This record gives sequence, structure tokens and C-alpha cells, in this order.
Amino acid sequence: MDQNHVASYYAATANDTIARPALSGNHDCDICIVGAGFTGISSALHLAEAGFKVIVLEAARIGFGASGRNGGQLVNSYSRDIDVIEQRYGQALGQTLGAMAFEGGDIIRERIARYEIDAHYKPGGIFAAFNARQFDELKAQAELWHRFGHNELEILDAQALRAHIASDLYVGGLLDHRGGHIHPLNLLLGEAQAFEALGGEIYEQSRVVDIKRGSAPVVHTANGTVSAGRILLAGNAYLGGLIPELASRSMPCGTQIIATAPLPEALAHSLIPGGHCVEDCNYKLDYYRMTSDLRLLYGGGVTYGGGDPASIEQFLRPRFERTFPQLKGTKIDFAWGGDFLLTLSRLPQVGQLEPNLYYAQGYSGHGVTTTHLMGRLIAEHMQGQNERFDAFASLPHLPFPGGRLLRKPYTAAGALYYGLRDRLGI
Ligand SMILES: Cc1cc2nc3c(=O)[nH]c(=O)nc-3n(C[C@H](O)[C@H](O)[C@H](O)COP(=O)(O)OP(=O)(O)OC[C@H]3O[C@@H](n4cnc5c(N)ncnc54)[C@H](O)[C@@H]3O)c2cc1C
Repeated sequence: MDQNHVASYYAATANDTIARPALSGNHDCDICIVGAGFTGISSALHLAEAGFKVIVLEAARIGFGASGRNGGQLVNSYSRDIDVIEQRYGQALGQTLGAMAFEGGDIIRERIARYEIDAHYKPGGIFAAFNARQFDELKAQAELWHRFGHNELEILDAQALRAHIASDLYVGGLLDHRGGHIHPLNLLLGEAQAFEALGGEIYEQSRVVDIKRGSAPVVHTANGTVSAGRILLAGNAYLGGLIPELASRSMPCGTQIIATAPLPEALAHSLIPGGHCVEDCNYKLDYYRMTSDLRLLYGGGVTYGGGDPASIEQFLRPRFERTFPQLKGTKIDFAWGGDFLLTLSRLPQVGQLEPNLYYAQGYSGHGVTTTHLMGRLIAEHMQGQNERFDAFASLPHLPFPGGRLLRKPYTAAGALYYGLRDRLGI
């Protein structure tokens, strides 16, 4: 049976609802991509721009996974910041990855402009701190980012932050003018259309069920095959067990979002007057922003192993009403969840299982910008420019303690510790 989008605000406001055909018969191309999320489509567009013949196979719809469901926040750098990379993996690697840490967002802005994508882009993202420790960490983050050439940052004390977010919860924040937010499904659909205009092919309802590896690899769906010079695996949390060596070093995690009914204009503008997006600094963080039609889109929580709580509304309502008591009782029009892929290091996993079998996954909750960077690096590597891709590929891919059986409780226990620290403000 066909698999459609979850009933999200994004699916209800998608610019392009045309279904692409399912794969049937035998095809060939230079590069076959498994998965039509940001990793797959971003790479496909970079590769088509470089003149390759590319086929994308998607199990459900373009953007069915995290890319069509997320908070839409363009968060710079990586889920573990550059200082941690320097400490753990050496200064040279830290320097190389740090030099790319702000590129993903720029790629998105360039594409929106070049392909005239109507993705409701709004500049500016705020990180909001609940306590002095978190605020100190934000100040250190600003210094670190300055060191890597990012100067469009503003430290906000409690009073300055209150002018940006009408909430009494925070003690300070960091405004990143090079961050921002978008309608992620419409960005992705716009990129998909740009790819198709360059001759690229996308097949939906075309789950890859097998890959015959070797010097002439063949990708199989239920009704068709693609023979490709090279393959990119871009299924992320939705890839399941298709490639066991990828599944064993990562863990799907669920997170959920609600969208309120459209708010009265004055109320909507009073909540976040600058129209920026916000994410707080807790380990299990909340993230929110206003949509172009003035709904509060509010996300939060993490379910280790993936999936959603029984009632997303019951789970998220107390959280957004705590942030904005002004919204008590506000009607919720949409509630949905999605899975992202967590790695132990919280750094993406990128590499080659074989010279012609690439993969990129595990952005650990901050993937909107990094998927776009990764698409460019994969395209560079496929054209013989190896250095930047290889730098990411050199990061170790650590297994979760406890193996596949115990990784969920072990990770949840670790998160409990960090969550407690956040609640105690230490
Ligand atoms: C609710 C939510 C909120 C988030 N908010 C943010 C945010 O605000 N900012 C941010 O930076 N990050 C956010 N993230 C993370 C971000 O969305 C992801 O890191 C990113 O979208 C991953 O993109 P992807 O293309 O790698 O994976 P996905 O978007 O999940 O795409 C994978 C695709 O592969 C397909 N697929 C899987 N297996 C197969 C197969 N066998 N054959 C064919 N197709 C297959 C799937 O159907 C899916 O469409 C959020 C994630 C979620 C779930």
C-alpha cells in the first residue's frame, strides 16, 4: 500500500503535491540515491549540477522522513561543537571541520535564491539559556564561532532576550543572525524540482529492498532495478535494517511537534517580535518558531529508539504553555512526530562501505544545515576532490554501549542524568 506523509502542518501546506511514479523495469545511471530527504536530494542536486545522471529512489514520498517533518531551524555548526572535535580528535581535524561549520546554511540560502524556492525563509535563530551555566556555555560558543570567522552573533542578557521572546523562563541567550528558519518540506520539494529540471529522476513508493554489491552494483525495489556506477545510502533513521553495519552504530530517536491554530496578529508578534526561531539549551531541548501564517510551531522531547508518545498534544501542551502562559488553552491544529538518527559521538557518520557504496547519516538532531553540507562533500568526492569528505569520514563511528539490545535503556539513563542537571540548574 502507498505510504503518504504524516498529517503534519507541512504536508497540509506543501507547494507541490504531485506524486512521482514508482520504479518499474530496469534502469541505469551514474549514481543511484536511496532516500529522498535532505541528504538524498541535496546530494542529487549537487551531482546533477555537476552533470551526472542521477536516480533517487524513495520508499514513500519526497520528504516523508525527518526532512519533511522537522522544526525547520537552520542551526549552525554540528550537534557536537568544534571545540569538542578539537579536544577529542585533534586540532587539525577540528580546524578542517570548523572551516565548514557554517557552510550548510549558506548552501540553503544560495539555493532558495538561485532556484526561487518559496520556503518562507526567515533569518535569525536564538539559543536560550535557563541558567548561568548554560549562558556561560553560549558565551563560550560565540567566542568559538568568532574564531572560525562567524561574527554575526549577539549575546543577549535577560532583559535583551525578553525583548525577543515574551517568556520569563530564560536568563540570557545568543542570537545567530546567520541562522534562521524555513518550511522544510517546501525547501526540499523546491530542491527536488530543481534537480528534476536538470534531468534528474525521482521515483516514489519505491522502497529499496536489496542491493547487490560488487563492481557493478544493482539496486532492487519490488518492481524494478537500477544499475549504477555508484550508490549513496541516504535513508537515515528510516533505513531500518537494510544495511546492518550502518544500523549497529546509530540509534533512531523520536521527537514531536505541534502547530497551533493561527494566532491573532498582535499576539503572534508579541511572542517573538523579531520572528526568529528559538531552541533552548537543555539536553532534551524544546524548539519553536512562528510560521508564515502565524501559528506557533513548538517541538520537544526525545524518545530513544524512535516513535511517539500516545498523545503528542498531551505531551507538548504543558511544555509550550510553560514557555508562553499567554497561550493557555490555545487550539492545536496539527501534532506529529518523526525520527532522527543519533550517534554516540553526536557527529554525523559519513563514508564508503565499498569504493562505490557511500553513506551519510546520523546528524543527531541538527541535520537541516549539515545534510546540505554533506551533499556538497559527497559530490566533491565523487568528482575526485577527496579532502573535505575524507575529513568527516575519518571520525570514528562508535557503537552504543549495551549493543542493540541495551543501547536504549543505557542512553535513556545517560539522558536522565543530563536532564536532572538541567532541571537543577547546575
Ligand atoms: C520532528 C523533528 C524535528 C527536527 N527539527 C530539526 C530542526 O529544527 N533543525 C535541524 O537542523 N534538524 C532537525 N531535525 C533533524 C533533521 O530533520 C534530520 O537530521 C534531517 O532531516 C535528516 O535528513 P535525511 O535526508 O538524512 O533523512 P530523512 O529526512 O529521514 O530521509 C530519509 C528518507 O529515506 C527514505 N528511505 C529509507 N529507507 C529507504 C529504502 N530502503 N528505500 C528507499 N527510501 C528509503 C525514507 O522514506 C526517508 O524519506 C529534526 C528531526 C525531527 C524528526
